[in-house]
Amino acid sequence: MSHARTRDAAADDKVPPDSTALLTIDLDALIANYDRLRELAAPAECAAVVKADAYGLGVTEVAPALWRAGCKTFFVATLPEAEELRALLPEAVIYVFSGLLPGTADIYRKADLRPVLNSAEEIREWAAQCSRYGEALPCAVHIDSGMNRLGLTAADVEAVSNNRELWSALSLSLVMSHLACADDASHAKNAAQRDIFDSLRARLPETRASLANSAGILLGADFVYDLVRPGIALYGGHPQRRGPNPFQPVVHLIGRILQ
Ligand SMILES: *Cc1c(COP(=O)(O)O)cnc(C)c1O
Repeated sequence: MSHARTRDAAADDKVPPDSTALLTIDLDALIANYDRLRELAAPAECAAVVKADAYGLGVTEVAPALWRAGCKTFFVATLPEAEELRALLPEAVIYVFSGLLPGTADIYRKADLRPVLNSAEEIREWAAQCSRYGEALPCAVHIDSGMNRLGLTAADVEAVSNNRELWSALSLSLVMSHLACADDASHAKNAAQRDIFDSLRARLPETRASLANSAGILLGADFVYDLVRPGIALYGGHPQRRGPNPFQPVVHLIGRILQ
């Protein structure tokens, strides 16, 4: 016996009558993924990347859930994202990848945000602003170890490395870099980037270090340093190209089958 129309009773139950589909975000799965990443990276601190509205899942729900689960440090891409996050999490440590755009220092200071400084010029500007405030405010420095997107080149590091006055004006709380090929665990570039990161950060004041995104955490203990910065794995994405996904799906979509 066949029917002209096949109804899916389960979907009909869950999808509101005036809708055709229902997308749900499973915050328990998000936290399970966070706990998994934290275990994998221990004893490093596990931060969370919540840029682009927490990868589209909704930062207003995602960030407080992570905070309640014990996440204390967050990364966003832009200053408006950081201001929105500050309103949600008054006590979190918040870093902004896009760094110190002209005229933004006062916003950073007022909302207690930390710029990720991407050039020698930005480091000089932050130091100058800190001197003006009379406060050595925290910041991160991003070293380009081979991603070729953002960060200090070897020449930039050279230009600022011995400038004591510069480094004493500010408070360097993190030195970081970003892996380009960590989704392929056998790629030679992973170890090469780690070596460049080590040799360049050795020329800067000693502080905490961070290299691994989600895929980098799966590369093992040599890549986790003091703090890890997962994004996609938190949200259930598979960070590597091969093998089963160790993380739980967070996004679920059910749709009605009309016919
Ligand atoms: C987006 C981003 C991350 C997170 O990367 P995932 O691959 O999503 O884990 C980490 N660090 C930087 C600099 C980023 O831009």
